[in-house]
Amino acid sequence: MKAHSGEVGVFVRIRPTANFSQDIIECLPDGQTVNIHHKKDTRKPLCPRKIQRSSWSFRLEGVLQDVSQEEVYTRVCRRVVLGALDGYNGTVLCFGQTGAGKTYTMTGSTESYKQRGVIPRAIQEVFQEVQKRTEHTFSVYLSYLEIYNETLVDLLASLQSSALPSPRSMVVSEEPGRGVFIRGLSLHPVHSEEEALNLLFEGEMNRVIGSHALNRNSSRSHCIFTLHLESRSRTLSDAKYVTSKLNLVDLAGSERLGKTGSEGQMFKEAMYINKSLSFLEQAILALADRRRDHVPFRQTKLTHALKDSLGGNCNTVLVANIYGEASQKEETLSTLRFASRMKCIRTNPAVNEHMDPAAQIKKLKKDVQMLKEELSFGNTLVNRPSVPYDPLSQAQLAEIDSQVQRYLEGSLKEISIISVSQVRALFAKFKLAVQGQEKKVNARLRQTYNLGEEDQRADTPAVKEWDTRGSTEEDEAGSFEVSHKNTQHPSSTRAKTKKSKDKPSQSKRQGEESPLSKKRSDSASKPKLNSVQSPEREQELQEPDTESQEPQESQPNGKEPFHPDSTLTKAEAFDDFKMGRGSKLNRILQENKAVLLERRSLHRQLTDEVNAVKREIDCTAATMQQYRETRGGQGRYSEPDDTLLNQLRELKALYRQRYEVLNDIKAEINYCQHLVDQCRVRLLSEFEKWYKKYSLVPEEDLETSMDNTLDQVSLSECDDNQLPPESSSSESFHNARYRMLRRRNTRSLCVTPEQRSSSSGSGQRTLPQIPPVS
Ligand code: ADP
Ligand code: MG
Repeated sequence: MKAHSGEVGVFVRIRPTANFSQDIIECLPDGQTVNIHHKKDTRKPLCPRKIQRSSWSFRLEGVLQDVSQEEVYTRVCRRVVLGALDGYNGTVLCFGQTGAGKTYTMTGSTESYKQRGVIPRAIQEVFQEVQKRTEHTFSVYLSYLEIYNETLVDLLASLQSSALPSPRSMVVSEEPGRGVFIRGLSLHPVHSEEEALNLLFEGEMNRVIGSHALNRNSSRSHCIFTLHLESRSRTLSDAKYVTSKLNLVDLAGSERLGKTGSEGQMFKEAMYINKSLSFLEQAILALADRRRDHVPFRQTKLTHALKDSLGGNCNTVLVANIYGEASQKEETLSTLRFASRMKCIRTNPAVNEHMDPAAQIKKLKKDVQMLKEELSFGNTLVNRPSVPYDPLSQAQLAEIDSQVQRYLEGSLKEISIISVSQVRALFAKFKLAVQGQEKKVNARLRQTYNLGEEDQRADTPAVKEWDTRGSTEEDEAGSFEVSHKNTQHPSSTRAKTKKSKDKPSQSKRQGEESPLSKKRSDSASKPKLNSVQSPEREQELQEPDTESQEPQESQPNGKEPFHPDSTLTKAEAFDDFKMGRGSKLNRILQENKAVLLERRSLHRQLTDEVNAVKREIDCTAATMQQYRETRGGQGRYSEPDDTLLNQLRELKALYRQRYEVLNDIKAEINYCQHLVDQCRVRLLSEFEKWYKKYSLVPEEDLETSMDNTLDQVSLSECDDNQLPPESSSSESFHNARYRMLRRRNTRSLCVTPEQRSSSSGSGQRTLPQIPPVS
């Protein structure tokens, strides 16, 4: 059951008195409104400037006049108690001047059952509900705190077996997930109404004794009796549980300092009371004002202790106790004003739900066990041998290690897959092996080039410098983003490349075939190599080194294989590589770039032409429109009109034709761009491979020429779906890309001039949509 939601419930309880001032206090029949009338003092001269107000009206949730303790509990407190049992924090506060009936309302008479107050009734209700709610288990704890002169006093400390904590050791604390609590305040588990009442009374007794010992009146301290509840579902084995706090607060008398005329100890008490109550009022004002994001809770112990019990996610109820006598008019007014402010506080009660980590682990373990059983059941159904799901033992890990070693050496042909955990362990071992190998390679490189740690670091800028130079070269290609660093977005390039594949074009260049047309003609005659490969083929593709172990006759320019000089930087080695071993690739790259530039320039030229035709169309259309307007109303077109129409028709045809050509060129440019990118990647990865390999393998193995690899691939095998590089600026990208390219060994990456010259461009095209001419 949800208690109040939306606002704090505020009630007024009028203490019965023989001298009830009906003239001053008027309770309306609606049971919610109380009016206070000011009886003007005729002896005092009226201040002419000041308009004296003579009555005030307060509308609250209920006015409790001459009502029994039972009714007070039912109307004020019951729903808060039931809310607490559901997991909502709840607070019932009694506020008012001394003698107005706060303690009577909260605790009532300890002698008379009928006269018992809200606290014993709440205790009773809680345990009755605990009995009723059999689907939940409840834990109930009690605490009883007194705040006297800004000192925290544990009214149940006498029940603690351990040494009593000194009042100083108690402190108001806050913790995430736990909210506000009093560190050092004793919490007492209670299992029955009786046990709880025993504690209440014990606390009451300590309150009275304390009053005498400290020469204080119980009405001069604030008392907070708290029921701490925790409930867990018996039916659901859920790790969730709910907690709540039910604070029953008997505040100190609210009478003003001036009125008491107190001195000494009394004066000090009154000071503290005034201070804490005025801060309580401030906190309430701040809570009621939605524009304020700071509420001064920490100003006093009372407001700090009640921080999460006044508004927020808490069900809060205030009972404003008033003394219905004429002499108490001022205090009554002050109490009612406080009550109406309290009414403005908005609340948003919420269940305090928690997760029990221990229960959660238990539940998860149970789930895992069940899933294992499900799996083994599934394995049995499909006749699969039983799979171990437990973590691998040391012996199993050692066996996997040995398998990986033998596999890498070649003595073990294959490793049988048994379980996911075994596959994971295998991967981990392979990773270790690769990392070990990498370290060895690095050490070897450093040794070969006499590189210290510093030289090694200097390696990166050298590559960068070279990359930058690469991009400067590319800038020559006009606005086309062909540099490593400004590669076109893969998806857009892919789309364009695909488009170019879909729309074969005629070669627009006299006496020279475009790489595109060559690719097209070849792809028509040869089967696609990017389709599913046979296992043998896959293996072959993954082991290109085995094939390329044989010494190659053809070296670029008929020169001896080039080996990087150990004194060269990586950038210099790259320059040498481009001139030597990588010269063929480099030449192809340069040629492709040249074609790209040529196509680009042609594209610009055609764009100008198309735009010129378009301007002419617009101009002719405008003239025609003008002509029609001047001859408007004549009903039919004259001769000059027809001439203009013919001219427009011709221009449109020309525009269409030029536009088609332009589109073809665009497709070719995209494809050339694609090839240039691929060539560059290949050049870089070949260089990296060569550069690394040089120091690793005996010289004769270096005979493995990239030319061989290059010769294996041709434009005819070029994969249209192959993506251009996303970013060529990083070395790791090229390495990764290179590995991928190796796997696709037979796919073409670049166009040789021979292939280009032997190509032909023909085929049907679908005409592009001509944009409407305005
Ligand atoms: P407070 O705690 O506000 O100072 P108390 O609760 O101690 O005031 O009340 C003062 C006296 O008035 C007590 O003797 C109490 O029994 C009596 N009293 C207060 N309210 C009522 C009430 N509604 N009916 C009967 N007696 C009351
Ligand atoms: Mg009292």
